[in-house]
Amino acid sequence: APPLVSVRDLTMTFPGKRSATGRRGAPVRAVDGISFDLAAGETLGLVGESGCGKSTTGRMLVRLLEPTSGSITFDGRDVTHLSQGALRPLRRHLQMVFQDPHSSLNPRQTVARIISDPLLVQGWAAGDARRRAAELMDLVGLIPEHIDRYPHEFSGGQAQRIGIARSLATSPRLVVADEPVSALDVSVQAQIVNLMERLRRELGLAYVFIAHDLSVVKRVSDRVAVMYLGRIVEIGDKKSLYEDPQHPYTRALLSAVPLPDPAAERRRERITLLGDPPSPAAPPPGCSFHPRCPKAQPLCKTERPALTVAAAGPATREVACHFPGD
Ligand code: SF4
Ligand code: MG
Repeated sequence: APPLVSVRDLTMTFPGKRSATGRRGAPVRAVDGISFDLAAGETLGLVGESGCGKSTTGRMLVRLLEPTSGSITFDGRDVTHLSQGALRPLRRHLQMVFQDPHSSLNPRQTVARIISDPLLVQGWAAGDARRRAAELMDLVGLIPEHIDRYPHEFSGGQAQRIGIARSLATSPRLVVADEPVSALDVSVQAQIVNLMERLRRELGLAYVFIAHDLSVVKRVSDRVAVMYLGRIVEIGDKKSLYEDPQHPYTRALLSAVPLPDPAAERRRERITLLGDPPSPAAPPPGCSFHPRCPKAQPLCKTERPALTVAAAGPATREVACHFPGD
Protein backbone atom coordinates (compact mmCIF):
# COMPACT_ATOMS: atom_id res chain seq x y z
CA ALA A 1 0.00 0.00 0.00
CA PRO A 2 1.23 3.56 -0.62
CA PRO A 3 2.30 5.39 2.55
CA LEU A 4 -0.25 7.46 4.45
CA VAL A 5 2.25 10.30 4.76
CA SER A 6 5.22 10.96 2.53
CA VAL A 7 7.67 13.73 3.38
CA ARG A 8 10.35 14.82 0.93
CA ASP A 9 13.14 17.36 1.49
CA LEU A 10 10.97 19.21 3.96
CA THR A 11 12.44 22.52 5.07
CA MET A 12 11.24 25.28 7.36
CA THR A 13 13.14 28.54 7.49
CA PHE A 14 12.18 31.21 10.02
CA PRO A 15 13.24 34.84 9.65
CA GLY A 16 16.15 35.79 11.93
CA LYS A 17 15.36 37.52 15.20
CA ARG A 18 15.59 41.29 15.36
CA SER A 19 18.31 42.61 17.62
CA ALA A 20 17.99 45.67 19.87
CA THR A 21 19.28 47.81 17.00
CA GLY A 22 16.53 46.52 14.73
CA ARG A 23 18.80 44.48 12.49
CA ARG A 24 17.61 41.05 11.53
CA GLY A 25 19.84 38.06 12.21
CA ALA A 26 20.41 35.33 9.66
CA PRO A 27 17.37 33.18 8.82
CA VAL A 28 17.12 29.99 10.87
CA ARG A 29 16.63 26.64 9.20
CA ALA A 30 14.64 24.90 11.91
CA VAL A 31 14.06 21.90 9.65
CA ASP A 32 16.61 21.28 6.93
CA GLY A 33 15.56 18.85 4.22
CA ILE A 34 14.08 15.82 5.93
CA SER A 35 12.40 12.88 4.19
CA PHE A 36 10.46 9.88 5.50
CA ASP A 37 7.32 7.83 4.93
CA LEU A 38 4.68 6.80 7.44
CA ALA A 39 2.33 3.88 6.78
CA ALA A 40 -1.30 3.86 7.89
CA GLY A 41 -1.52 2.62 11.49
CA GLU A 42 2.22 3.04 12.06
CA THR A 43 3.97 5.03 14.80
CA LEU A 44 7.14 6.95 14.09
CA GLY A 45 9.00 8.14 17.19
CA LEU A 46 10.70 11.48 16.52
CA VAL A 47 13.48 12.14 19.02
CA GLY A 48 16.05 14.83 19.69
CA GLU A 49 17.08 17.63 22.06
CA SER A 50 15.04 20.81 22.28
CA GLY A 51 15.59 23.05 19.26
CA CYS A 52 16.31 20.15 16.87
CA GLY A 53 13.22 20.88 14.78
CA LYS A 54 10.96 18.04 15.91
CA SER A 55 8.03 20.25 17.00
CA THR A 56 8.31 22.31 13.82
CA THR A 57 8.23 19.07 11.83
CA GLY A 58 5.12 17.95 13.73
CA ARG A 59 3.35 21.25 13.10
CA MET A 60 4.12 21.08 9.40
CA LEU A 61 2.77 17.52 9.19
CA VAL A 62 -0.66 18.63 10.42
CA ARG A 63 -0.25 21.86 8.42
CA LEU A 64 -0.40 24.23 11.36
CA LEU A 65 2.72 25.57 9.62
CA GLU A 66 3.28 25.91 5.90
CA PRO A 67 6.66 24.48 4.85
CA THR A 68 9.22 26.73 3.19
CA SER A 69 10.13 24.04 0.67
CA GLY A 70 9.89 20.32 0.05
CA SER A 71 6.64 18.39 0.08
CA ILE A 72 4.15 16.59 2.28
CA THR A 73 1.79 14.07 0.71
CA PHE A 74 -1.15 12.81 2.75
CA ASP A 75 -3.07 9.81 1.41
CA GLY A 76 -1.73 10.45 -2.08
CA ARG A 77 -2.54 14.17 -2.08
CA ASP A 78 0.02 16.97 -1.99
CA VAL A 79 -0.97 19.09 1.02
CA THR A 80 2.25 21.13 1.26
CA HIS A 81 0.80 24.49 0.32
CA LEU A 82 -2.97 23.97 0.61
CA SER A 83 -4.81 27.05 1.88
CA GLN A 84 -6.68 26.89 5.19
CA GLY A 85 -9.93 26.67 3.22
CA ALA A 86 -8.72 23.78 1.08
CA LEU A 87 -7.37 22.08 4.22
CA ARG A 88 -10.70 22.19 6.04
CA PRO A 89 -12.07 18.83 4.80
CA LEU A 90 -8.67 17.23 5.55
CA ARG A 91 -8.41 18.71 9.06
CA ARG A 92 -10.46 15.90 10.52
CA HIS A 93 -7.68 13.48 9.55
CA LEU A 94 -4.75 15.60 10.81
CA GLN A 95 -4.85 16.17 14.55
CA MET A 96 -2.37 17.11 17.24
CA VAL A 97 -1.85 16.48 20.95
CA PHE A 98 0.20 19.19 22.66
CA GLN A 99 2.84 19.06 25.36
CA ASP A 100 1.23 21.01 28.16
CA PRO A 101 -2.39 19.90 28.48
CA HIS A 102 -3.49 22.73 30.73
CA SER A 103 -2.13 25.51 28.54
CA SER A 104 -3.49 23.88 25.36
CA LEU A 105 -7.06 23.64 26.72
CA ASN A 106 -9.17 26.79 26.92
CA PRO A 107 -9.76 27.38 30.68
CA ARG A 108 -13.11 29.07 30.01
CA GLN A 109 -14.56 26.16 28.06
CA THR A 110 -16.16 23.03 29.49
CA VAL A 111 -14.83 19.62 28.50
CA ALA A 112 -17.97 19.17 26.40
CA ARG A 113 -17.12 22.28 24.42
CA ILE A 114 -13.41 21.47 24.12
CA ILE A 115 -13.94 17.96 22.78
CA SER A 116 -16.90 18.94 20.57
CA ASP A 117 -15.14 21.86 18.97
CA PRO A 118 -13.44 19.95 16.11
CA LEU A 119 -16.82 18.29 15.40
CA LEU A 120 -18.73 21.58 15.32
CA VAL A 121 -16.11 22.88 12.87
CA GLN A 122 -16.92 19.86 10.69
CA GLY A 123 -20.63 20.77 10.78
CA TRP A 124 -21.94 18.36 13.44
CA ALA A 125 -25.18 19.25 15.27
CA ALA A 126 -24.55 20.34 18.89
CA GLY A 127 -26.47 17.43 20.47
CA ASP A 128 -24.65 14.80 18.40
CA ALA A 129 -21.29 16.42 19.15
CA ARG A 130 -22.04 16.38 22.89
CA ARG A 131 -22.99 12.70 22.80
CA ARG A 132 -19.80 11.92 20.88
CA ALA A 133 -17.77 13.93 23.43
CA ALA A 134 -19.21 11.81 26.27
CA GLU A 135 -18.31 8.60 24.39
CA LEU A 136 -14.78 9.89 23.85
CA MET A 137 -14.40 10.68 27.55
CA ASP A 138 -15.28 7.09 28.30
CA LEU A 139 -12.85 5.88 25.62
CA VAL A 140 -9.91 7.75 27.18
CA GLY A 141 -10.74 6.72 30.75
CA LEU A 142 -12.53 9.84 31.99
CA ILE A 143 -15.92 9.86 33.68
CA PRO A 144 -18.51 11.03 31.11
CA GLU A 145 -20.59 12.63 33.90
CA HIS A 146 -17.74 15.16 34.29
CA ILE A 147 -18.47 16.56 30.85
CA ASP A 148 -19.58 19.99 32.12
CA ARG A 149 -16.47 20.56 34.23
CA TYR A 150 -13.62 22.92 33.36
CA PRO A 151 -9.97 21.94 32.69
CA HIS A 152 -8.68 23.23 36.06
CA GLU A 153 -10.88 20.65 37.80
CA PHE A 154 -8.70 17.88 36.33
CA SER A 155 -5.17 16.69 37.12
CA GLY A 156 -2.41 16.99 34.52
CA GLY A 157 -2.84 13.38 33.41
CA GLN A 158 -6.62 13.77 33.16
CA ALA A 159 -6.22 17.04 31.26
CA GLN A 160 -3.98 15.24 28.76
CA ARG A 161 -6.73 12.61 28.37
CA ILE A 162 -9.05 15.50 27.44
CA GLY A 163 -6.51 16.67 24.85
CA ILE A 164 -6.29 13.14 23.47
CA ALA A 165 -10.10 12.85 23.34
CA ARG A 166 -10.25 16.13 21.44
CA SER A 167 -7.64 14.91 18.96
CA LEU A 168 -9.68 11.74 18.33
CA ALA A 169 -13.10 13.40 18.00
CA THR A 170 -13.09 13.49 14.20
CA SER A 171 -11.65 9.96 13.79
CA PRO A 172 -8.33 11.18 12.38
CA ARG A 173 -5.91 8.98 10.48
CA LEU A 174 -2.82 10.83 11.73
CA VAL A 175 -2.20 12.21 15.21
CA VAL A 176 0.98 14.13 15.90
CA ALA A 177 1.70 13.99 19.62
CA ASP A 178 4.27 16.65 20.58
CA GLU A 179 5.91 15.49 23.80
CA PRO A 180 2.51 14.45 25.18
CA VAL A 181 3.92 13.20 28.50
CA SER A 182 6.89 15.54 29.11
CA ALA A 183 4.86 17.92 31.28
CA LEU A 184 3.31 15.12 33.37
CA ASP A 185 4.40 13.47 36.61
CA VAL A 186 6.58 10.44 35.94
CA SER A 187 3.98 8.30 37.73
CA VAL A 188 1.31 9.06 35.12
CA GLN A 189 3.52 9.13 32.02
CA ALA A 190 3.30 5.36 31.48
CA GLN A 191 -0.50 5.44 31.85
CA ILE A 192 -0.82 8.03 29.10
CA VAL A 193 1.64 6.22 26.82
CA ASN A 194 -0.28 2.95 27.39
CA LEU A 195 -3.57 4.70 26.66
CA MET A 196 -2.24 6.11 23.40
CA GLU A 197 -0.86 2.71 22.43
CA ARG A 198 -4.23 1.05 23.10
CA LEU A 199 -6.09 3.73 21.12
CA ARG A 200 -3.77 3.27 18.20
CA ARG A 201 -4.46 -0.47 18.11
CA GLU A 202 -8.22 -0.06 18.51
CA LEU A 203 -8.63 2.83 16.10
CA GLY A 204 -5.91 2.03 13.54
CA LEU A 205 -4.31 5.47 13.91
CA ALA A 206 -0.91 6.53 12.71
CA TYR A 207 1.14 8.55 15.21
CA VAL A 208 4.14 10.74 15.00
CA PHE A 209 5.21 10.61 18.63
CA ILE A 210 7.67 13.35 19.53
CA ALA A 211 9.94 13.10 22.58
CA HIS A 212 13.29 14.44 23.75
CA ASP A 213 14.61 11.08 24.86
CA LEU A 214 14.58 7.56 23.53
CA SER A 215 13.02 5.92 26.58
CA VAL A 216 9.57 7.48 26.08
CA VAL A 217 9.12 6.37 22.46
CA LYS A 218 10.46 2.86 22.96
CA ARG A 219 7.09 1.32 23.76
CA VAL A 220 4.92 3.06 21.17
CA SER A 221 7.12 3.29 18.09
CA ASP A 222 7.41 0.96 15.13
CA ARG A 223 10.19 3.08 13.70
CA VAL A 224 12.30 5.83 15.24
CA ALA A 225 13.88 8.90 13.66
CA VAL A 226 16.60 10.81 15.54
CA MET A 227 16.93 14.49 14.69
CA TYR A 228 19.85 16.83 15.28
CA LEU A 229 19.90 20.50 14.27
CA GLY A 230 17.05 20.21 11.79
CA ARG A 231 18.12 16.96 10.13
CA ILE A 232 17.38 13.29 10.55
CA VAL A 233 20.67 11.66 11.51
CA GLU A 234 19.35 8.11 11.89
CA ILE A 235 16.06 6.40 11.10
CA GLY A 236 15.01 2.78 11.20
CA ASP A 237 13.07 -0.05 12.69
CA LYS A 238 12.69 0.44 16.45
CA LYS A 239 13.98 -2.88 17.70
CA SER A 240 17.08 -2.91 15.57
CA LEU A 241 17.84 0.77 16.23
CA TYR A 242 17.78 0.26 20.01
CA GLU A 243 19.87 -2.91 19.77
CA ASP A 244 22.42 -1.65 17.29
CA PRO A 245 22.49 2.16 16.96
CA GLN A 246 24.82 3.35 14.19
CA HIS A 247 25.05 7.14 14.64
CA PRO A 248 27.23 8.45 17.52
CA TYR A 249 24.41 10.81 18.56
CA THR A 250 21.88 7.96 18.75
CA ARG A 251 24.42 5.95 20.75
CA ALA A 252 24.81 8.83 23.19
CA LEU A 253 21.05 9.29 23.57
CA LEU A 254 20.61 5.56 24.10
CA SER A 255 23.32 5.42 26.72
CA ALA A 256 21.13 7.74 28.82
CA VAL A 257 18.17 5.34 28.75
CA PRO A 258 18.09 3.34 32.00
CA LEU A 259 18.35 -0.44 31.54
CA PRO A 260 15.87 -2.64 33.41
CA ASP A 261 18.59 -5.05 34.56
CA PRO A 262 20.69 -3.38 37.33
CA ALA A 263 23.78 -5.48 36.55
CA ALA A 264 23.67 -4.45 32.90
CA GLU A 265 23.06 -0.87 34.02
CA ARG A 266 26.29 -0.94 36.13
CA ARG A 267 28.35 -2.45 33.31
CA ARG A 268 27.09 -0.04 30.72
CA GLU A 269 29.19 2.87 29.56
CA ARG A 270 27.63 6.31 29.59
CA ILE A 271 28.45 8.48 26.60
CA THR A 272 28.47 12.08 27.71
CA LEU A 273 28.10 14.69 25.02
CA LEU A 274 30.19 17.82 25.24
CA GLY A 275 28.27 21.06 25.53
CA ASP A 276 24.81 22.00 24.32
CA PRO A 277 23.55 21.72 20.77
CA PRO A 278 24.77 24.68 18.70
CA SER A 279 22.26 27.30 17.59
CA PRO A 280 20.34 26.37 14.44
CA ALA A 281 21.03 29.97 13.37
CA ALA A 282 24.70 29.09 12.93
CA PRO A 283 25.08 25.35 12.37
CA PRO A 284 28.66 24.06 12.27
CA PRO A 285 30.00 23.20 8.78
CA GLY A 286 30.38 19.62 7.60
CA CYS A 287 28.65 17.24 9.97
CA SER A 288 26.81 19.62 12.31
CA PHE A 289 27.37 17.14 15.17
CA HIS A 290 31.18 17.26 14.87
CA PRO A 291 31.90 19.69 17.76
CA ARG A 292 30.24 17.23 20.18
CA CYS A 293 31.06 13.94 18.52
CA PRO A 294 33.46 11.54 20.30
CA LYS A 295 34.34 9.98 16.91
CA ALA A 296 34.87 13.13 14.82
CA GLN A 297 37.67 13.03 12.19
CA PRO A 298 39.04 15.88 10.01
CA LEU A 299 36.65 14.86 7.18
CA CYS A 300 33.66 15.52 9.47
CA LYS A 301 34.49 19.22 9.69
CA THR A 302 34.24 19.78 5.95
CA GLU A 303 31.95 17.14 4.42
CA ARG A 304 28.30 16.89 5.36
CA PRO A 305 27.33 13.20 5.58
CA ALA A 306 24.18 12.28 3.64
CA LEU A 307 21.47 10.07 5.09
CA THR A 308 22.17 6.70 3.49
CA VAL A 309 21.85 2.99 4.19
CA ALA A 310 24.95 2.22 6.26
CA ALA A 311 26.95 -0.69 4.90
CA ALA A 312 27.56 -2.06 8.40
CA GLY A 313 23.98 -1.76 9.61
CA PRO A 314 20.71 -3.44 8.71
CA ALA A 315 19.27 -2.65 5.26
CA THR A 316 16.24 -0.88 6.73
CA ARG A 317 18.41 1.68 8.55
CA GLU A 318 19.56 5.03 7.23
CA VAL A 319 22.36 6.94 8.93
CA ALA A 320 24.02 10.30 8.28
CA CYS A 321 27.58 9.66 9.44
CA HIS A 322 30.94 9.14 7.74
CA PHE A 323 31.98 6.63 10.40
CA PRO A 324 28.86 4.79 11.58
CA GLY A 325 28.82 1.84 13.97
CA ASP A 326 31.39 1.00 16.62
FE1 SF4 B 1 30.68 12.09 14.25
FE2 SF4 B 1 31.87 12.43 11.92
FE3 SF4 B 1 29.81 10.76 12.11
FE4 SF4 B 1 29.45 13.39 12.30
S1 SF4 B 1 30.16 12.29 10.50
S2 SF4 B 1 28.57 11.86 13.59
S3 SF4 B 1 31.29 14.01 13.39
S4 SF4 B 1 31.81 10.55 13.09
MG1 MG C 1 9.23 21.14 21.23
